[in-house]
Amino acid sequence: MNRVIYEPDFDLSVVESLEALQERVTGCARCNLRAGCTRVVFGEGNPSARLMLIGEGPGADEDRLGRPFVGKAGQLLDKILAAVGLERFTHTYIANVVKCRPPGNRAPRAEEAEQCLPWLYRQIELISPGIIVLMGSSALQFLVDSRAKITGMRGRWLVSRSGIKIMPTYHPAALLRDASKKRPVWEDFKQVKEAFSNLTGV
Ligand code: SF4
Repeated sequence: MNRVIYEPDFDLSVVESLEALQERVTGCARCNLRAGCTRVVFGEGNPSARLMLIGEGPGADEDRLGRPFVGKAGQLLDKILAAVGLERFTHTYIANVVKCRPPGNRAPRAEEAEQCLPWLYRQIELISPGIIVLMGSSALQFLVDSRAKITGMRGRWLVSRSGIKIMPTYHPAALLRDASKKRPVWEDFKQVKEAFSNLTGV
């Protein structure tokens, strides 16, 4: 699978708002993850955000609360954003590659991501960000290139077919396991903030 974001494989163009999309996704059972999770975690944030953050999938806290990035990794993400002058609900919209929790927090399988990605593609189209941060290997590999390694790709801008600037970086959960990744993520988010300021004047 090779792609640089945006290859919708089923037509969601008739879904014209995030609210309508969320309603559709809430009833989704396109893959087997839905049977093992508590609820679908659609995503949240500013629906007009110029900056979108995309992670891997809901964990236990997210599954329980129905919100993305609310556990320890989410709290760290909030701190990283604050350190560069950004706030999640004001400046960003946050979503994941898959919207149902994989069992035991394993990475999503290709067949699960393939079923879920059309929802994310439409979410991206409706939000229309200028910048996307891909957090972790799953987001990079499912949205950009299945062979890509996050260690080699992080910190370098990519551009989607529709002109969105894309910054791959480590997932915040990786920083909790390995503190040496904090500095590179800090550098990546400084670049993101600079691009965000250029785009928005904020
Ligand atoms: S992970 Fe995505 S495709 Fe699978 S059931 Fe949940 S919403 Fe549907």
